[in-house]
Amino acid sequence: MNYFFRKLPLSIKLMLVGVTPILFFIYLSEQLYNEKKQRVKIISDYIEHIHESGNVASLISELENERKYSYEYALKKDAYGNVVIQRPRTDAIIKVLENSKDPSIANFVQYTFLNKLAGIRNTLDTAPHYPADAVMQYYTNAIFRLNTLNTVSSVSNIYFKPINQDLVAQRKLFEMITFLGIIRTNIYNALYTRKNMTPTLLSTVGTYEVFKTYEVEFLLKASPSSVKRFNEEKENTELKSTIKYIDTLFKTFIFDSTYTANEWWTISSKGRSVLKNQQLDLWLKSESGMKMIYQKEMKSRNKTLFLLLAAIILVITFVVFTIRVISEMLRELKVGAEKISMGGTGLWFKNMPNDVMGSLSDSILKIDKNNVALAEAANAIGHGDFDVAVQPRSSEDLLGNSILKMKNDLHTFTMEKDKVQQETLELMNRKDDFLSIASHELKTPVTSLKAYTQLLQMEGVEGMDDRSEMMLAKMEAQVDKLSSLITNLLDTSKLQNGKLAYNQNTFQLNDLLVEIVEETQNITSSHEIIVRTNTPMQVFADRERIGQVMSNFLTNAIKYCPDSSTIIVDLKNMERVAVCSVKDFGIGIRRDQHEKIFERFHRVSGTNLHTYPGLGLGLFIAKEIIERHDGKIWIESEEGKGTTFYFSLPVTEGQNI
Ligand code: ATP
Ligand code: MG
Repeated sequence: MNYFFRKLPLSIKLMLVGVTPILFFIYLSEQLYNEKKQRVKIISDYIEHIHESGNVASLISELENERKYSYEYALKKDAYGNVVIQRPRTDAIIKVLENSKDPSIANFVQYTFLNKLAGIRNTLDTAPHYPADAVMQYYTNAIFRLNTLNTVSSVSNIYFKPINQDLVAQRKLFEMITFLGIIRTNIYNALYTRKNMTPTLLSTVGTYEVFKTYEVEFLLKASPSSVKRFNEEKENTELKSTIKYIDTLFKTFIFDSTYTANEWWTISSKGRSVLKNQQLDLWLKSESGMKMIYQKEMKSRNKTLFLLLAAIILVITFVVFTIRVISEMLRELKVGAEKISMGGTGLWFKNMPNDVMGSLSDSILKIDKNNVALAEAANAIGHGDFDVAVQPRSSEDLLGNSILKMKNDLHTFTMEKDKVQQETLELMNRKDDFLSIASHELKTPVTSLKAYTQLLQMEGVEGMDDRSEMMLAKMEAQVDKLSSLITNLLDTSKLQNGKLAYNQNTFQLNDLLVEIVEETQNITSSHEIIVRTNTPMQVFADRERIGQVMSNFLTNAIKYCPDSSTIIVDLKNMERVAVCSVKDFGIGIRRDQHEKIFERFHRVSGTNLHTYPGLGLGLFIAKEIIERHDGKIWIESEEGKGTTFYFSLPVTEGQNI
């Protein structure tokens, strides 16, 4: 579960976080709203129910009348008109109740036996001796049964608490009216028939007791104002005479001559009306109270609906806004982290909160800052600044610790290198000094050696045999070689110290070339030097030094061409630049050595190194000389095929014809 949740994309996770409470909230809102709606429905149903209770009361009243008229007619077959007038009234009210939407009285016609009313009426109308008592019995039972319909639900009472007292009181009055109706009808019957008077009373004792019970209950449960009204009316209206007469009857069980049947019916009718009016007033009061409660509940329901909708919109807006803000911040962090991963710097996050997101952005900024600091430190170290501070962030900081180690290692290495460099420099200087001194010191004895050799050659011509002459000639050649070596060493030393002096003049380069070729040709018999130019070319240069360059080229060509005898020398004027070349067909030079052979003491390594004597100075000196004359020196060579050395010099303007 944890694995799957972690794998979910962030947007889905945020949606879940946001949508779940919203759905829960909507569910709760719906429950709350439904509860309100239910409450309103219960109240409205109850109002309907109470309303129908009024109709039930009317039906009872109409049935009491019909019972009286039917009973009278059954007894005396008289006053049928009353029956005829009464029946449609009863039927009208039955119809109203049958059409009622109140479920508590659905099908009441069946269980109150009113479905048999038509049969009773028919029998009464057609059977001449239909017993009056049976009529009385049927109507009384129907009235009792109808009375059970008018119940007040205790559940509904919760909602009608403010009017509960009046509702209960009207209900008690209703019961009293019903039972009073039965009692007065029975008394009327007794007075009317003057038969079975005491048994009739006895059979009504129970009803009388119930009536009394309801009266006591009414006095206990009704509001003080209702009790006061009841008590006052019981003292000052026909209700007093009615109840007083009933009380006396049930005390004595003797009918005196206080009332005739009709007088009793009239007076008890009025007494009953007093109760009826009181009940009606309480009912109307309760009904208006109920309507007010209903209105209040409706308003409360609508208000709840409005508030819930507003809250849902607010919550959704807030959740969507929060998801947007979080996504935006995460995107900023992602872009920042990507930038850092690409090596970028200079990050900035605006308005980050003081929470996990804020500390994440702080960490990214810290990485950025540290990267910049480390990069600057590395840069400074690269430039040899070892005083720059490198502060690793922790022992786990790989980069910081590596740079610190690099700084320390590089510092040690640089110090060692500087030391070695210093020592090398000193050694080089000492070596140069040695070369300078040695070559200088050697120059003088070699010069006098050469002079004496020449003197000996000239003076000893007569007394010397051929062998001695040959030995003297070889000696002179070796002295020349030694002299040349020493000259090269001296020149190199001077070049190093910047002391090589140039004595520049204008002269014909081709003349110099011919001279040098001739000199060289004189000392070699194995090689033939071919010169391919005679174009006069005037240059402004040190004649002796340029001759030295030509000589170096030629001696190399002879030295490194043991098997080939031809050397081609060329001098051309190439757009006011004199280009001189010396071409041989000797051992050639590897490509990788073409640059290096111009370095001091560099000789091409290999098996030939000791075959061809030399110090590796000739080309170094030649390059220095040519470059000092604003010329160039270069080479074309292929190993095993031969080499061509070139140098160029600027031709002096207008002087080269
Ligand atoms: P030095 O000239 O001091 O007597 P060197 O001739 O060896 O000694 P350079 O003239 O400077 O020194 O030449 C450098 C190297 O270049 C030589 O040692 C040789 O290996 C190579 N070199 C020079 N000229 C030729 C050539 N013509 N053919 C083949 N190799 C050559
Ligand atoms: Mg050489």
